[in-house]
Amino acid sequence: MNPQEILARLGIGEWSPGACGAAWLDHPGGGELLSYNPSTGEPLARVAMASAEDYEQVAAAAQETFLRWRMHPAPKRGEVIRQIGLALREHKQDLGALVSLEMGKILAEGLGEVQEMIDMADFAVGLSRQLYGATMQSERPQHRMYEQWHPLGPVGVISSFNFPVAVWSWNAFIAAVCGDTVIWKPSSETPLCAIAVQRICRRVLEDNGWPGVFTLAIGRGSSVGERLLADPRVALISATGSCQMGYRVAEVVGRRLGRTILELGGNNGVIIEPDADLNLALRAVLFGAVGTAGQRCTTIRRIFLHRGIAAEFTDRLKHAYSQIRIGDPLDERTVMGPLANGAAVEDMLDGLRRAVEQGGEVICGGRRLERPGNFVEPALVRARADMPIVREEIFAPILYLIEYQDLEEAIRWHNDVPQGLSSAIFTRNLIAAETFLSARGSDCGIANVNIGTSGAEIGGAFGGEKETGGGREAGSDAWKAYMRRQTVTINWSSDLPLAQGIRFEI
Ligand code: NAD
Repeated sequence: MNPQEILARLGIGEWSPGACGAAWLDHPGGGELLSYNPSTGEPLARVAMASAEDYEQVAAAAQETFLRWRMHPAPKRGEVIRQIGLALREHKQDLGALVSLEMGKILAEGLGEVQEMIDMADFAVGLSRQLYGATMQSERPQHRMYEQWHPLGPVGVISSFNFPVAVWSWNAFIAAVCGDTVIWKPSSETPLCAIAVQRICRRVLEDNGWPGVFTLAIGRGSSVGERLLADPRVALISATGSCQMGYRVAEVVGRRLGRTILELGGNNGVIIEPDADLNLALRAVLFGAVGTAGQRCTTIRRIFLHRGIAAEFTDRLKHAYSQIRIGDPLDERTVMGPLANGAAVEDMLDGLRRAVEQGGEVICGGRRLERPGNFVEPALVRARADMPIVREEIFAPILYLIEYQDLEEAIRWHNDVPQGLSSAIFTRNLIAAETFLSARGSDCGIANVNIGTSGAEIGGAFGGEKETGGGREAGSDAWKAYMRRQTVTINWSSDLPLAQGIRFEI
């Protein structure tokens, strides 16, 4: 596949403006950003970033549109998202290829990401006829109590490089049916994905007379990012990225008592019990640890192997690792593409050095490949749970293998990390599975049995505990974070009884 042809079909030239409010800004003044192909190190295209003044235009459009969009009936808002879902279906192949090209994940995963956007659109359409509030029984005669949900305001979406299109849609499509407008600040690693999505959605929005519902501001964290966080017009900031970024977002948005959804780093563990189906576990661990080159928030980073199966499972895993085809993510035979950039390669190599210093043993992989681009071999490291590095999220394909004797010990070690996103156990023993799922089991936002930690479906609420930030996105009742709750009491009597029996008369 020719990169320039993929870009051209998505309407992206050699140069693009990186800011869009009610209309694309002609000449954003925030400096130039080059997008690189991580498979070759070659530049793909140039983007003009938004300056602080450009951000002001974008935010003003989002605010102005919100004042009208909030009064547009929710099912009609859903209809616009339905059409966006159709447009995404039309562009699925090219957009999926662009995700692979710019981010480096293999094509099947790039396409999967666009499919996730389509699924989110469908989910949001259904939701647009729901957004239910509860009715409560009043203690006072002829009084009615209920709660209703209103749109919140413009929502800022800060997305990470590793899911350059899907993460935005989890937020944007739900926010839009809830009556909010969206200001998107994507990762500087993947500006072209954001521009392509904005172009596809904008065409639909424009046709429906609602161009300012989704806006875009590509820019530096220090200018555009910080402005977005501090902007009192932005009722909610949904931020996906590292824990370090999350602390900053929580601090700045917290200072103005704004709302946040934080979707931060993970350090996901899998426990493999002695009775587990090892074929199943092997396939799940491979996808979970090597998929997206170890650059998912839900990547498996630690496996706890019962000592009864540790030797056999380690041998089988080493064999499987030796067969992984690393290379061009657009080649259908490839299983693992490159890392995002040179710094990610250095982080991985440095992590492996530190793991060895702390007593770990690299038993497979872990070398940089001698070719252009940011290619590495995925690594297996025999480790102990008390090695400090095991508690860190290194955003690369390093998998720690830790042996344990009994389940309670494995669960204790599993939970003994700062992050709490996703977790899994492989077992055919009901008691072991239920122990893992109980209140003294996994402390993560996601807990799976006989499934790996990554590849969540959109129907459930997605997110994690502890340093992962506590946010929830996508399915279930995650929509409530994008609306404000109003409790209503209506008195249809001619008396004024007070609650709690209070008498107040003169
Ligand atoms: P990152 O923290 O470097 O960047 C994430 C985003 O935050 C980018 O858009 C970046 O520009 C922005 N940002 C950084 N500083 C900012 C500031 N001061 N103000 C406003 N915006 C700012 O993360 P990354 O390298 O792009 O992504 C990898 C990380 O994301 C990993 O830690 C991964 O686990 C996490 N992640 C979490 C989830 C989840 O749902 N929990 C999903 C995907 C990725």
